[in-house]
Amino acid sequence: MITRDTHVQDALTEAVTALNRASDADATLKTATALGLAGTIAPLVGVAKGVAQVVANCTTSARRMSEQTEDAAVGEAHHGTRLATRAAARTLQGLRAHLVETHTAAWNARAAAAVTSSPGVAARDHLEVADRALTQAGNLGLHRAGTDPIALASTTHALPHIADRLVSLIEACRNAAHRLAEQATTPAEQTAHRDTEHAAYQAVRTAHSLRRTLATLAGRAQEARALAVRKCPECGEAALAHTPDDLTPAQRNSRRRPAWSHRDGTQLCPVMGTGGYEPAKPV
Ligand SMILES: [Zn+2]
Repeated sequence: MITRDTHVQDALTEAVTALNRASDADATLKTATALGLAGTIAPLVGVAKGVAQVVANCTTSARRMSEQTEDAAVGEAHHGTRLATRAAARTLQGLRAHLVETHTAAWNARAAAAVTSSPGVAARDHLEVADRALTQAGNLGLHRAGTDPIALASTTHALPHIADRLVSLIEACRNAAHRLAEQATTPAEQTAHRDTEHAAYQAVRTAHSLRRTLATLAGRAQEARALAVRKCPECGEAALAHTPDDLTPAQRNSRRRPAWSHRDGTQLCPVMGTGGYEPAKPV
């Protein structure tokens, strides 16, 4: 169970590294041709789609966790995370629309441009790596939308940084479109580049909002983690505010069911209570 979440973390780390490299290489956009620019925006569309899938998985995870806890405060905290994922999902929808529009405009501008051959653009190559890694992170979550507040907090922690990089990279694309418009040799080519610049401007503004909504999401997931994670006093492992998966029939019919479990879904370690062995109380 934990392995899958670890894979999601690995994929997100890979995506962040690739986005950092793309940002370091964004100077290559200063000399990019129309073809190079269009080729750079394409993987940006993919990155936004991957982030949207990861956020959708976070929504499912927060919903399941709010359903699986008996603790009202923890349930409320997971609900807060869920609302934050919805705000982020709406912003991502807008960003994806603006990026698709930017890509279409850049593609049209490429057709109008005199120079159609392009040297490789380093930022683009790194963005393609980030696109693949985020797609993988989104797909891994589909196998098991996690019900682990620790994993959810780590996943959401990586997202504001990704939005940060999107802001600077889309800004670099916008500047490239501006330069190409100034250098255009025909009115048609100039209009096409101006269209790209305008669409990229809208995308930059939305990416700024995305950074804010993702920071809020990360904060909510962190709050929920603080409430929903304690420790099993016997083995020292994390205890989650999650009804155990291995309730006995007697426990299932009891009005006071154990409310905390180990990370793998088992009950907390047994201790001697008034009526025999019972799961330990989390500390
Ligand atoms: Zn234990």
